Amino acid sequence: MKQRPSFPARLNPSPPATKPASKGSGSNPTVPGRPQGLGMDSAAHRQRMVQLLQRQGVQDSAVLSAMGTVERHRFVDSALVNQAYEDTSLPIGLGQTISKPGVVSRMIELLRNGAQGRLGRILEIGTGCGYQAAVLSLLASEVYSIERLRGLHDKARENLRPMRLPNVHLLFGDGMVGYAKGGPYAGIISAAGGEAVPQAWIDQLAVGGRLVAPVVSGHGKPGGQSLLVLDKTVVGIRQTILEAVHFVPLKSGVA
Ligand code: SAH
Repeated sequence: MKQRPSFPARLNPSPPATKPASKGSGSNPTVPGRPQGLGMDSAAHRQRMVQLLQRQGVQDSAVLSAMGTVERHRFVDSALVNQAYEDTSLPIGLGQTISKPGVVSRMIELLRNGAQGRLGRILEIGTGCGYQAAVLSLLASEVYSIERLRGLHDKARENLRPMRLPNVHLLFGDGMVGYAKGGPYAGIISAAGGEAVPQAWIDQLAVGGRLVAPVVSGHGKPGGQSLLVLDKTVVGIRQTILEAVHFVPLKSGVA
């Protein structure tokens, strides 16, 4: 089994028993499993990432705070830990990727739409490694996250277990049918892009709720995707197509 990075796993960890040696102290004992080049300074790496997200235009302070809290390096392979706080997508196995922090924060900011306080129940399609579910757990009352690949569903469970997030519910299944039992949802967010938004998602969205998803729009090149924001209002559905994005395809069935 792969060795996971060994930081305190809780999102609100109690103070570590031993303080990390400060830079240049010359007495930095090697801790087994500690990722090379990241060390106990991962909070500083996250803060730099948050500053970059701010420069890219993310303004929602709750989103920035959640991005600064969740330890992204815990969700990637040990060999990629040094890139965990760069604004880049990274492979997570089975041909899938963890989305770029810039895209995760942009989509969640759109999903929140300036909300004060936490969102209600959220449905996430495409758990992947579980990173975005962890970010959402800090911003919503409940997070239902579906993954169609058993290997990634299991990996996300393993990644999230030490964080003890009681409001994250991981589901194995085809997200194209949504998860009616958890609905209606205040928000639906998809990390995989299809030709169109499945009707089940719109049905399971609460009135007043918002869906954010990549959809094939032919933007740029055939099969190119754009970000779609869909609002379900008392008078009907309002859709807005935003910038071009690049997500893995939304596929039906499980594997
Ligand atoms: N939010 C994830 C991103 C994972 S990439 C993270 O933070 O890591 C998108 C994921 O969507 C992939 O794991 C892919 O297997 C999954 N996916 C694609 N189609 C799906 C479907 N119909 N139902 C559930 N998951 C799906």
